[in-house]
Amino acid sequence: MKERDHLIKPILGKRYPMAASAKGIYIYDQDGKKYIDGSSGAVTVSIGHGVQEVINETLAQAEKISFSYRSQFTNEPAEKLAKKLSQLAPGDLNWSFFVNSGSEATETAMKIAIQYWQEKGKLKKDRIISRWSSYHGITMGALSMSGHVLRRQRFSSLLADYPSVSAPYTYRRPEHVTEEEWGFLCAQELETEIRRIGAERVAAFIAEPIIGAAGGAITPPANYYQKIKEICERYDVLFIADEVMTGIGRTGKMFAIEHWNVTPDLITLGKGMSSGYTPMAATLVSDKVMEPILKGSKTIMGGHTYSANPQSAAVALKVIEYVEKHQLVEKAEEQGNYLMSKLKALSESFELIGDIRGKGLLIGMEFVANREKKNPYPPELDVTNRVIEHAFDKGLLVYPASGAINGMGDAIIISPPLVITKGELDRLVDILEAAISEVQCELRLEGKA
Ligand code: PMP
Repeated sequence: MKERDHLIKPILGKRYPMAASAKGIYIYDQDGKKYIDGSSGAVTVSIGHGVQEVINETLAQAEKISFSYRSQFTNEPAEKLAKKLSQLAPGDLNWSFFVNSGSEATETAMKIAIQYWQEKGKLKKDRIISRWSSYHGITMGALSMSGHVLRRQRFSSLLADYPSVSAPYTYRRPEHVTEEEWGFLCAQELETEIRRIGAERVAAFIAEPIIGAAGGAITPPANYYQKIKEICERYDVLFIADEVMTGIGRTGKMFAIEHWNVTPDLITLGKGMSSGYTPMAATLVSDKVMEPILKGSKTIMGGHTYSANPQSAAVALKVIEYVEKHQLVEKAEEQGNYLMSKLKALSESFELIGDIRGKGLLIGMEFVANREKKNPYPPELDVTNRVIEHAFDKGLLVYPASGAINGMGDAIIISPPLVITKGELDRLVDILEAAISEVQCELRLEGKA
């Protein structure tokens, strides 16, 4: 009988290799081909693959209890995980609500922000401001907040038309504007937008401290978040930091927003929180936000069947303990600095590399047709995917950022597991160099570079 597909994959009809096994920073396919996981999957596998302690914990917890339902029981792993996160989080972010994906975490944050104002009697405060470009998730609430053209397009008539402001895209700021002025101007735009809508209608502002999938590790000017926080406080607007991609050490701080000494009212986590060993995500909530809810309706209108289940909580707790025990936050900073300097050196020899940015082991590389003018390549040349595919063929995984789709240029993210060594980083950069070199040749042959 003829084989047919049953699994709906990202691109139908495309042949994907079968991931067969993985250890440390490497993934092996069914033919034994070895790949450096230079993107940690989708910026997820922070502690590396196949960590025995986590595997043991998975089994040990399953032997005790895999599932209990949150409205019937609490459970020890979930209690311990919430306590651990409150110890790690800045300020008074002492509460956790557990969900299964980053999308659910941001959607929950949005709903908690709206509920907070309802409990305080401000029923009109239900709008969220976000940014172009951004990505906060694929569910309808999370997508409504996302400034991601491609992912919105098909559903745009169904999405809440939330107001949005410019992303603090340092590389593409107007000429003659300093970084500091740019940080100020972008933050100022939030103030203008709040005033335009009316502060009495705005519940929260949501931002990824470093913009991931929608831009490729776009890192704001140093003064931006301080100014954002001031504006949010001035207008009674909650600040949600979407740390689904950046949280739990990825950028060289436990939470990326700490780079700018700012404490948000809510933080969302996912990806690196469980390092891909189990679906797990969280919305961290401050005492300030919980206070009127505790006094008022005493329940969060949200949650899923698998929220706070003991199996996932035990695994995530083990992952976070592993991050601490092996000082992976410090390692992310150290190895990130090393990788950054190597990539900056690499960019000297390639006209098509326009910008290298990011923090820790979340690094973005943007490609341009003309370095001086910063002209992006036409999207139909698909430069991002060319780089990704050439790297893939050579055994290196890097992550696409959809700048080109958002009209802002092609970019990739390089984000290996935080356990990567300098020798392995050298190898990663060598392969990337070879891949970019091939793309450059290809473009020249086509008369496009
Ligand atoms: N927020 C951010 C910042 C993300 O990077 C992502 C995933 N790329 C999400 C939310 C959505 O997470 P998930 O895919 O787990 O739903």
